Amino acid sequence: MLGILGGGQLARMLALAAAPLGVKALVVDNAADACAGQVAPLVVADWTDYAALEQFAAQVDVVTFDFENVPAETAQRLAQKVAVFPAPRALAVAQDRLAEKTLFRECGLRTPEFMAVDTRADLDQALATVGAPAILKTRRLGYDGKGQFRLRALDDADAAWATLGSQAAAHGLILEAFVPFERELSVIAVRGRDGEFRTWPLTQNWHTDGVLSLSLAPAPDIDALQERATQLARTLAERLDYVGVFALELFVKDGELLGNEMAPRVHNSGHWTIEGALTSQFENHVRAVLGLPLGDTSARGLSAMFNWIGELPDAAPVLHAVDAHWHDYGKLPRAGRKVGHATVCAPDSLRMVERLGGIAHALNRDQQADPAVRELE
Ligand code: ATP
Ligand code: MG
Ligand code: MG
Repeated sequence: MLGILGGGQLARMLALAAAPLGVKALVVDNAADACAGQVAPLVVADWTDYAALEQFAAQVDVVTFDFENVPAETAQRLAQKVAVFPAPRALAVAQDRLAEKTLFRECGLRTPEFMAVDTRADLDQALATVGAPAILKTRRLGYDGKGQFRLRALDDADAAWATLGSQAAAHGLILEAFVPFERELSVIAVRGRDGEFRTWPLTQNWHTDGVLSLSLAPAPDIDALQERATQLARTLAERLDYVGVFALELFVKDGELLGNEMAPRVHNSGHWTIEGALTSQFENHVRAVLGLPLGDTSARGLSAMFNWIGELPDAAPVLHAVDAHWHDYGKLPRAGRKVGHATVCAPDSLRMVERLGGIAHALNRDQQADPAVRELE
């Protein structure tokens, strides 16, 4: 039995990938309507309900995460009862933007300039060093661009502090230089219990209002970067003695890689691997945490993944299209919420552009497909 902490769409896709391997999943979430509950039994408990969590631990062979912000203390307590992958120490580093960026630098991965900010005076000092434009972020608990404030000029400091200052004491803040990047890439990587390591081809990503809207894989023209990205991901994984799938988010600036953040779990920019790779990130994560051999991570062809944010569009155009795949997470619509995605696969760029053109037109979402089309043409 595979135990999963967090019951969102990632847990749902993990449970679906585990089934053919003969592995059942048991999910914990604090919400009774968590969407993974549609495909696996769900334990409803808070992250500090240790009695319920110990009972959960007694029923499973290994515990993993759909949600990276499970308190480190909870992960450590569970690790005393049952195998937990990735290990609590790796989780702790990835939960803290300051620890994460410091590790990146130690591993030889450059990052945007950054400085820790705990007080209003720190913010002035950090701005003097980092300069503007810059982004102030909470060190912990941010996702989908939440807990961030973009400073266009030095005199935005008061506005930034008014928004995030109250979180400085509890979570700490970090000021980062804003990088006018050429492209955003991510590398999805997996490391087994025995140290076997693989990466999927690099993915190119586009965000809207801080939320991933489109991924294209393999990212076009990345020959020069693939090997370097793989090497960096491997160094990080070995430093953390990491087990399972993780994502490393990268900016490309002047042709060089800069590290943004790592996600210690399966990742939205790897959803294309379900239909677009020989083995999906979800299957390989299950294999890795259970100590099974890892599957081939090669791409079958090209894939484009569209996130449905807020509400689902009409499914029909995607269902009618060739080699296009619909994912409805069964979540209630809400502004800014990821409620589903679609993946379009094609053997080459010509046919991909054709298929995207057809679907984007039918969905009246031309803007969302545009960047991928521009990249491929
Ligand atoms: P996720 O949902 O990926 O966990 P998050 O809330 O942790 O998101 P980030 O990945 O830090 O946030 O930022 C979201 C997006 O905002 C990035 O993918 C990138 O497009 C943009 N961004 C973040 N930091 C910078 C930066 N220093 N310079 C330029 N753009 C940035
Ligand atoms: Mg993040
Ligand atoms: Mg991110």
